[in-house]
Amino acid sequence: MNSTNQQQRVAVYPGSFDPVTYGHLDIIQRAARQYDRIIVAVLNNTSKNPMFSVEERKDILHKVTKDFPNVEVESFRDLLVRFMRMKNASVIIRGIRSVTDFEYELQLASTNHMLDEGIDTVFMMTHPKYSYLSSSIVKEIANFQGDVSQMVPPEVEKRLREKCGPERPLRQ
Ligand code: ADP
Repeated sequence: MNSTNQQQRVAVYPGSFDPVTYGHLDIIQRAARQYDRIIVAVLNNTSKNPMFSVEERKDILHKVTKDFPNVEVESFRDLLVRFMRMKNASVIIRGIRSVTDFEYELQLASTNHMLDEGIDTVFMMTHPKYSYLSSSIVKEIANFQGDVSQMVPPEVEKRLREKCGPERPLRQ
């Protein structure tokens, strides 16, 4: 079988990405080395109360992944496994920061596998320097005009400042 006949290995990295952090980006970058195509899939979930709209999140993700040629950005509002069938993807990428993450992720992975046995979840351990990092922590700090420059790319920092106001020094 020559390379043009070979099936592409397509993986989906689903999440809220509200907003994307350096922790997410690290996972995207590492997954992009392992698969032919990575689809970063923003969950369009009406039950959460996001800071950024789905369009804003996609726009940010496009900008911060522009240097990875095999990374695409999409959104979905459906069963993840159905979205994946539509995209010919068979692998879900998820990041693990802690044992707490693992418990929840195991439940998700088992459910998705039960819904569609052709789907597998691959876990990537966080880079230790991002193990504390989450989108909600970033939003809390930005809401109080704290420094988030170590946690998110400059594009995200700029958007957070637009919504939450400029950074204020710790001591006035
Ligand atoms: P969700 O609402 O689906 O948890 P998130 O955007 O919070 O969406 O996270 C998407 C995925 O990225 C999840 O698998 C989560 O565990 C992982 N993730 C989030 N932050 C980090 C981080 N700092 N390091 C590694 N993985 C992370």
